[in-house]
Amino acid sequence: MVIQNVLKINENLKPVIQMESLKYRLFTQYEFWRDIPEFANVSEKDFLNYKWQTKNSIYDQKTLIKTISNIASKEFIEAACQGFSRVPMAVRITPYLLSLIDWNNPWNDPIRKQFIPVSTQLIEDHPMLSFDSLHERQDAVTSSLVHRYPQKALFLALDTCPAYCRFCTRSYAVGQNTNIMKKGNFSVDSKRWEEAFNYIESHPELEDIVISGGDTYNLSAEQIKTIGFRLLQIPQIRRIRFASKGLAVMPMKVLTDENWLDAITSVLELGKKLYKEVALHTHFNHANEITGITQRAMQKFFERGLVVRDQTVLLRGINDTSEQMQFLIQRLSYINIQPYYVFQHDLVKGVEDLRTSVQTAIDIEKSLRGIIAGFKTPTVAIDAPAGGGKRSIHSYEYYNRKTGVSVYTAPSVRPGKYFLYFDPLHSLAENIRNAWKDPKQQQIMCDEALNEARKAKF
Ligand SMILES: *Cc1c(COP(=O)(O)O)cnc(C)c1O
Ligand code: SF4
Repeated sequence: MVIQNVLKINENLKPVIQMESLKYRLFTQYEFWRDIPEFANVSEKDFLNYKWQTKNSIYDQKTLIKTISNIASKEFIEAACQGFSRVPMAVRITPYLLSLIDWNNPWNDPIRKQFIPVSTQLIEDHPMLSFDSLHERQDAVTSSLVHRYPQKALFLALDTCPAYCRFCTRSYAVGQNTNIMKKGNFSVDSKRWEEAFNYIESHPELEDIVISGGDTYNLSAEQIKTIGFRLLQIPQIRRIRFASKGLAVMPMKVLTDENWLDAITSVLELGKKLYKEVALHTHFNHANEITGITQRAMQKFFERGLVVRDQTVLLRGINDTSEQMQFLIQRLSYINIQPYYVFQHDLVKGVEDLRTSVQTAIDIEKSLRGIIAGFKTPTVAIDAPAGGGKRSIHSYEYYNRKTGVSVYTAPSVRPGKYFLYFDPLHSLAENIRNAWKDPKQQQIMCDEALNEARKAKF
């Protein structure tokens, strides 16, 4: 028996790998934006200038239509206009992102799907969805501070971003009002900020602050320093992180906004002096978002010693296969970004086409673990709806794959409570989809899951 095993090992010497599988190391280097007629004459110097990117970002439907009128079909433009009138997020997309979309097939493009809704692909929401599904407002201790976990808190410094993602969890507040959504607000306001800092100071257990929004890319250099220095000087604070999707939507800012980069660096330097950690948390969802420009931006951060981690959202038709996710994780790791989380999509309204089942997340986790260094392997997590907080996707108490209901608990956050997540209707059989339309049946399916979860516990 033993000998046989040895022979087997020798026979199975690792085969020569296909170079194809290392393609994640190749980054788009050419002037890809010139393929878009509107940007055909834009020099590299302009394209890399963050001011040019901001000025030429698309803030309304009219500009979007004008920019893509020569490259997209009438059907597509029509579907996009109708799409925008039906969703909770306002339009905002950078020339960089727009140039990375494959306009020969925008319907299926992974970047287009994240930023431009098209009416023909929108599907009905699961009846159990609500705005602010994470109940952040319920854990808000000041207008801009969410204190859910014992030792860490989330500071919402502003309510704008350089681009607006369709699937934003904070669509209840981020960006301008839309046809169907009037927003709460947490705009830049030093009085509001000071309330949050005072709360943090009076809570000695808080060691870790996430500075988010919105997107901290949209804070000025002065504001970055104000917030960073203020937080680091609070004695018990050990770690702060700036949250920004900027690297994915406008990496050139790191290359050309020297004041901003210097501001982040000076916060990092103060952190070093005080022996406190300062990091940047970013948000990539598809390998196409990572180009030679991103690589150069990351080199800048790396030279300065800034740790950058990534949080990805699992999105149907964008990164919901093992191959796509693996490719993304490998590419992120290659440019010194640490893949930190892959999140199950929250129960957000208006983006049901982008959600996957919990089973998909479980399958992806299994396929990722073991390929790359463990510290480059993200935790696949679910932010338990209604304020349970982040849980490992595998840690459900019960999961009914037929009804699509999973049940999580969060002993360190809300002991004794059960949190229900609902797989999207499109992942369920037809009779179950119909059952979800009936309030009585809804109750029965939720009760069944809760009862089973309670049984499983003991
Ligand atoms: C995500 C989050 C944090 C940070 O959690 P980590 O697991 O440390 O990344 C803190 N507070 C709130 C409310 C959050 O949603
Ligand atoms: S960058 Fe973050 S906060 Fe801004 S729209 Fe996207 S998901 Fe929402």
